[in-house]
Amino acid sequence: MTFHAGFVSFVGRPNVGKSTLTNALVGEKVAITSAKPQTTRRAIRGIVHRPDGQLIIVDTPGIHRPRTLLGQRLNDLVESTLADVDVIAFCLPADEKIGPGDRFIVEQLEQYPRARKVAIVTKTDKVARQRVAEQLIAVSELRADKDWQWDEIVPVSALTSEQLDILADALIALLPESPPLYPEEAVTDETDEDRIAELIREAALEGVEDELPHSLAVTIDEITPRQDSTLTDVYANIWVERDSQKGIIIGKGGKRLQEIGAQSRAGIEALLGTRVYLSLRVKVAKEWQRDAKLLGRLGF
Ligand code: GDP
Ligand code: MG
Repeated sequence: MTFHAGFVSFVGRPNVGKSTLTNALVGEKVAITSAKPQTTRRAIRGIVHRPDGQLIIVDTPGIHRPRTLLGQRLNDLVESTLADVDVIAFCLPADEKIGPGDRFIVEQLEQYPRARKVAIVTKTDKVARQRVAEQLIAVSELRADKDWQWDEIVPVSALTSEQLDILADALIALLPESPPLYPEEAVTDETDEDRIAELIREAALEGVEDELPHSLAVTIDEITPRQDSTLTDVYANIWVERDSQKGIIIGKGGKRLQEIGAQSRAGIEALLGTRVYLSLRVKVAKEWQRDAKLLGRLGF
């Protein structure tokens, strides 16, 4: 039996289900999901282990037209990620018509001739079978008169797991022959610190208005296990751009911040396997998205 191992990256408009699909394939929560667009900021890897292969998923922030320095940095990250992967999987949802945003992304894929290209029709649980079939035809026609065709087109539901195994098999088959690249117990090569920051960010974004997601970053000062105790102290900062946003995050009488703390602490305790004392501080860094020095400090 030959073994295949390599890298795949899911691309597509915000909210098409890339993070959810990553989690479903890996079987553990590694990439944050949200109903808000563009909440994934780093290239997070999830690793799918199979008897015949190892699929390393690089979850990119999504390709979009840059408006700020942060937007530009994100696009650079996408470019350097995609130049590197074995398979690029373009995701589009079954329940939305193909639009200019999808075409823009598919055109960008020309720049990466080395990678095999797969189209994934996501969220098939949301529509009737007939609609899935129509979407499969529409996505194949996107490439009909071009010099490259999709290597595979796969419909999938990350929610019900329908076709999930078939998708994993199809992706692994497109990877180069190679021994495993990561140890078997690895699900992600992100640090605990990265994952904790993402959990807090996810909790902070729950139920907030559109403008805030871009203006929110999380840094971790300290993760310290207490001696003689099953408790870990975590000190973290939530950064926003304006005082008004600070107010939104803290909420009336500190209520929202408490909720953010309670929700993220549950995830952090599951991750670390200990009880957690979580200290969250909300700080204002004016215009951090445009400020190169601050971006560096916040980890971008
Ligand atoms: P991303 O921005 O492409 O990473 O998208 P997310 O993974 O964050 O998903 C965006 C939204 O679509 C979330 O509300 C998900 O719960 C939802 N979603 C993702 N996959 C599925 C699916 O297979 N079925 C359904 N019904 N909803 C999904
Ligand atoms: Mg995402």
